[in-house]
Amino acid sequence: MKSFESLGLSKGLVESVQQIGFEIPTPIQEKAIPVLLKGNRDFVGLAQTGTGKTAAFGLPLLELIDEESRHTQALILAPTRELGLQIASDLENFTEKFKPFNIVAVYGGSSISEQIRKVKRGAQIIVATPGRLIDLVDRKAINLGTIQYVVLDEADEMLNMGFKEDLDKILSFTPDAKNTWLFSATMPREVKAIMKNYMTDPYELTIGEQNVGNINIEHHYVMVQERDKYLALKRILDDNPEIFGLIFCRTRIDTQKIAEMLMKDGYNADALHGDLTQQQRDRVMLKFRNRALQILVATDVAARGIDVEDITHVIHMNLPDEMEFYTHRSGRTARAGKRGISIAMISRKELGRVKQLEKTLKSPFKRMMVPTGSEVCQKQLLALMHKVREVKVNEDEIGEFLPAVYEELKDITKQDLIKRFASIEFNRFLDYYRNAPDLNVDERRSGSADNDRYVTGTRFFINLGKMDGLDTGGMLGFIEDVSGLSRNSIGKLELKGAYSFFEIEKDKTDLLMNEFKGVEYKGRQVRIEVTERKTPGSRGDSSKRDFHRGRSSGNSYKASKTSGFKRKRY
Ligand code: AMP
Repeated sequence: MKSFESLGLSKGLVESVQQIGFEIPTPIQEKAIPVLLKGNRDFVGLAQTGTGKTAAFGLPLLELIDEESRHTQALILAPTRELGLQIASDLENFTEKFKPFNIVAVYGGSSISEQIRKVKRGAQIIVATPGRLIDLVDRKAINLGTIQYVVLDEADEMLNMGFKEDLDKILSFTPDAKNTWLFSATMPREVKAIMKNYMTDPYELTIGEQNVGNINIEHHYVMVQERDKYLALKRILDDNPEIFGLIFCRTRIDTQKIAEMLMKDGYNADALHGDLTQQQRDRVMLKFRNRALQILVATDVAARGIDVEDITHVIHMNLPDEMEFYTHRSGRTARAGKRGISIAMISRKELGRVKQLEKTLKSPFKRMMVPTGSEVCQKQLLALMHKVREVKVNEDEIGEFLPAVYEELKDITKQDLIKRFASIEFNRFLDYYRNAPDLNVDERRSGSADNDRYVTGTRFFINLGKMDGLDTGGMLGFIEDVSGLSRNSIGKLELKGAYSFFEIEKDKTDLLMNEFKGVEYKGRQVRIEVTERKTPGSRGDSSKRDFHRGRSSGNSYKASKTSGFKRKRY
């Protein structure tokens, strides 16, 4: 294993990185730094985010820049303001014990005149987002004619974000005799085109196998109905009390909605998307970075370039439309050699896309079952007990209150005390999860039974079926007529011979029970009953989920209550 010294870097730079805490170079640093230090070749680095790219190009760049010249010598382009600021701040840190360079970051959403002023003072290195740079060039505030080094960081993301024209324009303004260093996590056609059009015989470096995902990420998927996704999300969060997570949604509206629902339900969450002002986005990011925020819900675009360490989980409320985005999303976890978990929520229909991802990333995707209510309760209880064990007792300050506390509890045994103490926090979860249904969808069942129309459903048994001459449309019409509900409120319908099952929005349960009282169909008394959702293939005691035909009860239904669930026997 090589050291930073052995790569040919100056003492000051080595000391600076050591001060930051980098002890040994990452693979990309080890391989790229000696090549880039020569400063005589174009370069392409194919590496995932989080591999240490910034130091890989930043350290040689600082070594090559002429401190005496006030001209702008290096231009670093990044897809987002967040990443741009991160790079500028990393470079500042690298120079701490080296030479004092003038590094200026320019990006949208912030005063342009202030940035122009800084550039005019003599920026030797400019870190920019493409759009703002074009503005500055158009205003003649920046002269790109003296540029010797151009770094395109996360080139694939810049192109994904529609910066192709801006990049073409910027690169055409820079002198031909410059070096271009391009970094990208993936190598789509558009990136290859940039290489072909603007680079000469680049040195190509691939860290890890091309397209292979970061091996420190465990990829999971949960298979749930669309309407159950929010409930499944809450279970996953509750099952991971220490989560520091990033949740991705496809649209700004969904992002805002999910964040608001989480906040309302008492989670420490917030949203990050393009409808927020730059100031609001900065505030959210600062909270997240400082860990004052536990869960960040974001759109793909807003979360680009986020480099926050120690994100434990990335959760995808949907698979992204562009498969490439999956890599960008999941790459927000497992940074700098740490481990991370990526969980995609998918419908049964999307299993094929997961298989495709497995092939592309050459990484297995494991099905994860949405935890059951009782599993979550157990996890929470243990987390609480863990906290009790770990808590620091402030002997001095609590001391004076303890005698009264001991007095109050003196008749309670240790075991009883533990029980009561645990119950205070635990009862909240228990109440919530007591009747919690299994949210997992059976992988094997096919067909159109999935119905994504409503939020959470109560499953009903009805003593009518095909034998009563009803087909799906007939049965749905009948339920609509009796209940007065629209078809949108009716979920999955399973039409059987003498009986059927259907689902209804949970808050319509009582209404339905009332409306069906005394109803007859073709002279037969119609009976509906709330039943537990049947979920073959799920974990737990399957007998609790099956319906058994009783020996002598014929077609009459007896309700019995077990483990808090109403079940019928027939
Ligand atoms: P980057 O790919 O440059 O965004 O780096 C990803 C993360 O790895 C950042 O948090 C860096 O601070 C960290 N990092 C980069 N190089 C090293 C190193 N040699 N040793 C330890 N951490 C590093």
